[in-house]
Parts: sequence; structure tokens; C-alpha cells
Amino acid sequence: MTVRVRFAPSPTGYLHVGGGRTALYNRLFSQGRGAFILRSDDTDQARSTREFADDILESMRWLGLTWDEGIEVGGPHGSYRQSERIERYGEVADQLVAAGHAYHSFATAEQLDEFRKAAQAAGRSPAYDGRFRLDDDEIARRLAAGETAPIRFAVNRPGETSFDDIVRGEVSFDHAQVDDFVILRSDRSPTYHLASTVDDVDFGITHVIRGEDLLSSTPKHLLLTKAMGAEPAVYAHLPLLLGPDGTKLSKRHGHTAVNAYRSAGFLPEALLNYLAILSWSPGEDEELVSLSEMAERFRLEDVSRSPAVFDVTKLEWMNGVYIRELGAAEFVARSLEFVEDDLGRDLDEDEMKAFAGMAPLVQERAKTLAEVGPQLRFLFAASVSYDPTSWEKVMMQPEAMTAVSAACTRLAELPAWDAESIETTLRSMLDEHGMSARKGLQPIRVAVCGSAISPPLFESLELLGRERSLQRLADVAQQLG
Ligand code: GLU
Repeated sequence: MTVRVRFAPSPTGYLHVGGGRTALYNRLFSQGRGAFILRSDDTDQARSTREFADDILESMRWLGLTWDEGIEVGGPHGSYRQSERIERYGEVADQLVAAGHAYHSFATAEQLDEFRKAAQAAGRSPAYDGRFRLDDDEIARRLAAGETAPIRFAVNRPGETSFDDIVRGEVSFDHAQVDDFVILRSDRSPTYHLASTVDDVDFGITHVIRGEDLLSSTPKHLLLTKAMGAEPAVYAHLPLLLGPDGTKLSKRHGHTAVNAYRSAGFLPEALLNYLAILSWSPGEDEELVSLSEMAERFRLEDVSRSPAVFDVTKLEWMNGVYIRELGAAEFVARSLEFVEDDLGRDLDEDEMKAFAGMAPLVQERAKTLAEVGPQLRFLFAASVSYDPTSWEKVMMQPEAMTAVSAACTRLAELPAWDAESIETTLRSMLDEHGMSARKGLQPIRVAVCGSAISPPLFESLELLGRERSLQRLADVAQQLG
């Protein structure tokens, strides 16, 4: 059997990391077995924007999540944008009315409100049970008189809808909990339930893999599918993502958009790997897997049903591991935009050489590519800007003045300007003054690099060059003196 799965984001927000995980699992499940389809659930024109729609495609591509059919790629089903299929949804709604599965509902907002309140007060289900449905003649008379009304699906009660969810197992909904839901509004715009189900049926979707927030919609989609005379898809609902405090992941916890992680200097392969292991494990104690390894090993049956905690600290750790796996030239190529952004200009040829020389030392420690810019600023900026916290902590120490001016004098006499000679000279200077490396080298670091956090000091001095290094030390000696 050939599987057909879809990712169906609404362009009402940036691609969320949870959406990224859903897209990834769809892609992994379908790889080598069928088609991964990207459709746009853009019926909510008021909240959908071009910017969000573009961001979703851009973020998917950045993550390496390509799709086989759908938006921009095309395919046998015409448009994969719901906004371009509005007529089709109206047509299905009319067919469902003609077949007796749905009806024009003239229930007023007040009636529905009263019903809900009374049900709640009596401890009954507030799901609307269709009690205000008019008889067919009355409906026909009102429509003929030019009145408009939304179309509701007629849920039969008593009854229940059950399905075998690949992740959650057997799931069952009593129809007392399912309302006669609206499928077409009185302006003939479709609801999510109708548009989503019609697309899943028309596009031949075999497996619906989506977030658990949509679980309670599934009985409605199954009822609609059956009423359309189609074969239902198999469902798999992925667990919720939580923040570290155990509440639903939201902006309160930090970034939730994939593009924010991109700007913060995460590698797409690291983010993808982290999203994969949120609710699935590639094997005992294994966490680091490439996209192709994931696709080989992924099974929907192995997806966990418990909520997953999105932990940025862990993601940073993983990103660091991926950063260290990059080749030196690759690291330079990928971090260049962050360095240039930080600096506000492009690097020239000499600076590129200095960058390439320094890059491996930063690569060893960086957790994100965004750290590279500030760490190398000292190398490219015309003058150092001192980090106030570092200055306060280091330069106010009694040793600072001695260390900086002694370093300036001793380094000025150095015949060769390389990291090794610089280190030997500075260490003998420390011995001479009876200073520990920690106390004596930090002021030199802050004087030259502007911060107590910098790449290794001796190499930094070498790459900065004799002239600029001595100038900076002299400037600070003077300021302290
Ligand atoms: N468009 C829906 C959303 O963005 C998902 C629809 C679905 O997967 O059925 O939440």
C-alpha cells in the first residue's frame, strides 16, 4: 500500500516548533513509502497572511523538510490551498444536505445559549443536540423566502464513534459529547471540520498525523468521511509540547517559532534532530540521528503518548554537538552571516583570513552560531567596546594595572608574534609578579577582547596582531593608571 500523508498548517502564525515536529513525523513516516503532501488551511482569510504563509514554506525548507506534492510543488489535485477550493466545500455540504446527513439550522444564538446554560446547570453535556432543527418543509419555505442559515451536520444519538489511534490506542467519543456542528456558515464559507475532511478525502490521505489538540475534532471528521461515502484515514495524534514548568509550550517559555531558532544560530540539522527525539527515540540511549537515519528507523507505533517537554538547554547542548561536527570551512561559511550581522558590514579579505584562523577556537565551545559574532567582534571592530560587567569584575582588582602594563612592556620586546611566544612571555611575566594565571590573564583578556568571555587568549593576541594588541594594552594601562 502506498501511504499519503499531509501537513496542513494554517498561515495564521509562524511555523511553530510543534508544527515542525508534526511535519517531520509526517515526512519520516511517508519516506520511501508514499507521498508527503503540503496543503494550506487558509480559509480564515481574516487571520491568514502572506508573511506567515511564506514563513511556513521557508522554515520547512530550512529544516530540510521537502514535500512531494502540494503548495508550489503541484500535483494531481489542482490547488492545495483551501481558499481556492471554497466551491468544492459548498458542493459537498449541499450533497450532505440532499442525502439527509446535514441540514440548514435556523436555531438562534439565544436558543443555543439557553440550551447550553440549561445543560450545564443540569450537569448534562452542553454539546448541541439538534433539538431546534425545523422540519424539512419549514426549512424549504424559509430558504425559498430568501433566508440564509448555516448548515449543521446531523449527528445521530445515541451513538458513538471509535477509532484506533496509532499513538493513543483505542479512542471513543459518545455522541452525547459531539454537537450538531456547523460545516458551512450562512455566507457559505466552510468550517475547518468540513474543509479539512473534504481535502483529506479528495486527496486520498491514508494517515492523518497531527497534534493532540485536534483529537476532539476527529469524531466529527470520521462522521463526515462516512457520510461522504469514503474510506476513513488512520489517525495518529502526537502528544502536546510542554515548557519546562509543565504547562503547554507558549511564548512565555521563550521562542516557539522555528525562524527564531534560525536567527538565534541553531543549525537546522540540530533542531530537526531535537524535534525528532521529543516524542520518539531512535534506540536505547541514542539521541543523535541524521534525517536519513531517522527515516530508516522511524515507526509511528513507537511515538510516545505522554506530553513532551521542549527544553532549550538540551537543544543548545545538541546544537553544540552538531557545531563541533562541522568541517572547519563549513563552520566559517555557516557562521559568516552571524559575524557580519553582528558587525553591520561585510568582512574584507584580510579579515576573512583572520576569521578562518580564529574560527576553530570558537567552534570548539560555541553552543549557537549567534555567539560567534560577539566573540569575534574584538578582531574586526576598529576599537574595543568593553563589556561593563567584565570591566567591573576584572579591572577593579588590584592586579589589573600591573598585569596590563607589564604585559604591554614585555610583549613589545617580543621578536616573534605567535601564540606560543606570547604564551611563554606572559607566563614568565606572571611568575615574575607572583600572579596566578586566573588573576593575571583576565585583565589582559578584557583589555584586548573587551570581555571576560573570549576565544583562547594567546591565539586571540596572535590573530589580532602586534600593533593592535599593544595599542589596546597601552590604552587600558593608561586608563587604569
Ligand atoms: N490547520 C490545522 C492547524 O493548523 C491543522 C489541520 C489538521 O491537521 O487537520 O492547526
